Amino acid sequence: MTEEEWEAICERCGRCCYEKIDSNAKIYYTAIPCEHLDLNTRLCRIYADREQHRSGCVALTPELLKQGLLPADCPYVADLEDYPAPLMEDDLDD
Ligand code: SF4
Repeated sequence: MTEEEWEAICERCGRCCYEKIDSNAKIYYTAIPCEHLDLNTRLCRIYADREQHRSGCVALTPELLKQGLLPADCPYVADLEDYPAPLMEDDLDD
């Protein structure tokens, strides 16, 4: 698969650009968007340079998919068996 084909899988929904919490080896999505996410277009404003400007932001690779960072219905992971989809922050135990 070429880089263009890989990038074309993304539906540009922006949902993976919300802050996440790692708690007890589980990933939880918060309602806080990344400061670089344009909430109108749902696109990253610094996409080409995001890894330089934003620590913790990494380019998505096939190897990263099973880490459970993307929503369960994201096209990159929707067909993965036993995919460990993130939970919502509301599901965190108090
Ligand atoms: S959740 Fe999936 S489809 Fe949506 S922006 Fe992230 S990678 Fe793209």
